[in-house]
Amino acid sequence: MSAGRLAVVAIDGPAGTGKSTVARGLAKALGSRYIDTGAMYRAVTLAALRAGVALDDTDGIAAVARNVEVSVDSQPDGDRTYLGGEDVSREIRGDEVTGAVSAVSAVPEVRTRLVALQQQLAAAGGGVVVEGRDVGTVVLPDADVKIFLTASAETRAQRRNDQNVAAGLRDDYPGVLADVRRRDELDSTRAVSPLRPADDAVIVDTGEMSQEQVIDHLRDLVEQRCGAIR
Ligand code: C5P
Repeated sequence: MSAGRLAVVAIDGPAGTGKSTVARGLAKALGSRYIDTGAMYRAVTLAALRAGVALDDTDGIAAVARNVEVSVDSQPDGDRTYLGGEDVSREIRGDEVTGAVSAVSAVPEVRTRLVALQQQLAAAGGGVVVEGRDVGTVVLPDADVKIFLTASAETRAQRRNDQNVAAGLRDDYPGVLADVRRRDELDSTRAVSPLRPADDAVIVDTGEMSQEQVIDHLRDLVEQRCGAIR
């Protein structure tokens, strides 16, 4: 097995850069595992909402984070996220969770618990592509390759709205743009692990590129750093 196949790759960036599709596609191209850290923050958020904890109740959210059991599983037909054994993969993508996740993920105890879980999953062996907001800076500071994906807020909102429409959800570009800007602001100004590129990250603007082009580009970067994949 070549070094490229065993690479530990961190992919960070804001919502709507095509991060999830690109990270999944890269993992497939490398024959690596894939870990979606955002899904874990969404799962804790769902648990907090179900428990009726107010979003400004930091202690209440911390208690939820201490008590929930979050697990993830990559399957050929898609990834699954579980909360105490219940498959919540679909529910964590809903508007309610999306609207609350930045507040929940700003709570330090939530991050401590999930970062430890992510590090444990990433260390399980073989190559891995880990996607999130703080993977290159906090979760895996020693990753072999760190990528930071960017695109303008308008491009990202357009993509997310197109995805929503394709999934049968509401067509609401202005609403999605407002949500993208609000989450950018919350994620990049929070005290703990703000969204920012690691000093040694390669910044890739996906605005003018197709997802296939981005995946090919990242695969080339991994090969340059870690050796040929084939
Ligand atoms: O990637 P996704 O959009 O599903 O992430 C949802 C939210 O989870 C982000 O907006 C961010 O608030 C939070 N998150 C985080 N750190 C990560 C991954 C996600 O704070 N590593």
